[in-house]
Amino acid sequence: CGIVSAVSRRNIVPILVQGLQRLEYRGYDSCGVAVHAQSLPGQPGSGLVRARSTARVAELLAQVEQTGLQAATGIAHTRWATHGAPEVHNAHPHFSHGPGVAPAEAERPGRVALVHNGIIENHEALRAELEGRGYVFSSQTDTEVIAHLVDSLYDGDLFSAVRAAVARLRGAFAIAVIHRDEPHRVVGARAGSPLVLGVGSHQEAGEHFLASDAMALAGVTDQIVYLEEGDLVDLQLGRYWIAGADGQPLSPAERPVRTVL
Ligand code: GLU
Repeated sequence: CGIVSAVSRRNIVPILVQGLQRLEYRGYDSCGVAVHAQSLPGQPGSGLVRARSTARVAELLAQVEQTGLQAATGIAHTRWATHGAPEVHNAHPHFSHGPGVAPAEAERPGRVALVHNGIIENHEALRAELEGRGYVFSSQTDTEVIAHLVDSLYDGDLFSAVRAAVARLRGAFAIAVIHRDEPHRVVGARAGSPLVLGVGSHQEAGEHFLASDAMALAGVTDQIVYLEEGDLVDLQLGRYWIAGADGQPLSPAERPVRTVL
């Protein structure tokens, strides 16, 4: 339903949660946020950590305030369930821990975290294939296959893994993905569901954003790039690039930055 994501040098947890609040009017049945614990110096914990709720975004905010969660890289989601009941274990972000990790262990820090809008039509076939390779599922969503697929294709470069994963998906999606081994990177893709890139204006932060709607970034940036069907996007500190489905970079003239009012 709604996606907000950021790469920055400052704490972006408030931006993620406020972005979700700006998308609340669209309706949702659950919400969640995942961040890279080592993306901001001096923070406790390691790897990818998350908080999820079937109550309001305000309840999610209370959870992250209680834990004092701060991070500079993260993804957040409001879910409108299509596959799997509106329960916490089906709420996004979904994790992959790699093959062989049982659901009981699944609250340990993830290797891949992913949010998704849309529907993956071939999720059953992909699920069977990934289960055959030892991946243990902890939700009934169509989304979780993408997290495990990215994990199975990861070889040190998140962009390549996401590109290879989306090539295997049928259906409609906008996604944002983070990886344990790359604390300052978010990779996104869109096919059939909207996704925009927000170019940050904060001088020192070198930050960039993704959102399913520019409105989620109101007050954060008004510099927006509208991604097109099949686009992939790679956000890193102080730089971003957009590629077509073939992985070839697109020029700023092909994907111009627009000022939204
Ligand atoms: N199909 C996914 C799910 O049910 C995503 C739904 C959405 O777009 O929020 O979890």
